Amino acid sequence: MSTVEDPTQVVMSRLREVPDAYRRFAAGAPEARRVFGIGADLLAQLIDLGLPHQRRGGELRLDAFDLENISTGLRLRSPQAMTMRQWKHALASRRRPGGADCLVTVEWRCPAPGHRDGCDFALSDLFTPVSRIDEKHEPARGSVVLQAEPSDHAIRFGAEFHPVLAAAARLTFYKLPPQLSNDLSFVRRTGLANCRLACQHLLDTAAAAGVNARPAAGLFLGALFPFRHIWIEVEVGGRWVAADPFFLETLRRWGVVDRPDWPADQSPRGILWRLLNASSIDEPFVTHRGCEASVSVSARWVPQAG
Ligand SMILES: [Zn+2]
Repeated sequence: MSTVEDPTQVVMSRLREVPDAYRRFAAGAPEARRVFGIGADLLAQLIDLGLPHQRRGGELRLDAFDLENISTGLRLRSPQAMTMRQWKHALASRRRPGGADCLVTVEWRCPAPGHRDGCDFALSDLFTPVSRIDEKHEPARGSVVLQAEPSDHAIRFGAEFHPVLAAAARLTFYKLPPQLSNDLSFVRRTGLANCRLACQHLLDTAAAAGVNARPAAGLFLGALFPFRHIWIEVEVGGRWVAADPFFLETLRRWGVVDRPDWPADQSPRGILWRLLNASSIDEPFVTHRGCEASVSVSARWVPQAG
């Protein structure tokens, strides 16, 4: 007979793997409730169980990564959970075959409106090689519409890839502070990883299995609002194709995708857009006089021209 673990205990035991020194106690109880769906009763229970916190001037201060990991781990109703339900629809529509182009719009605004000198925006070099469909430049804002080129290969990986699949299935997606995002000993010990750490771990696994793989960084397009993501690419027949068993498995556990629609042993089609030859995608998409500008990114699919 197997024992069913209490989800709250599971969440708390994961949380204890992160050293306190890496926490930023910047979130309050109102944010815990509004953003992460953690109400006052649950919060009190978690604090009793040892949720790391500080009190400043009588106010409770909490770490936002802790709150997000709790919210995800307990499947709480939150704005983020609603966003994931939207991914479900976006991914379901991506699965349908048929020629469609993905257009990604990057919009930016002045981060300090009303300053004396004129605005001066610069779009990241990441987008330099990308075809631009449209551009708008106004005094304090602007936008560019880009022709995305997501990985799109009908490829099922062979038996040599199975150790990578098995390693990915043993991992649990976890929001990690930057200090742990490159810590391979942490993922080996705990099985917890964000996409950056999972990428490095799976590259190690691939190398040990004799699979030629490399990191890929860019945008995840399977959502209305694409987000920065890191995955691996595998060489198949002289071509580099996307592989993302870790995130696909994670989306399956979250109930966002079904395995038959998005099998982890196949190259995901139309959702991963590689932007550079590096394992990182931290740099600002748009800067304003050297500082990060306020940016929003959106995607839409249009019938292919011609
Ligand atoms: Zn400005």
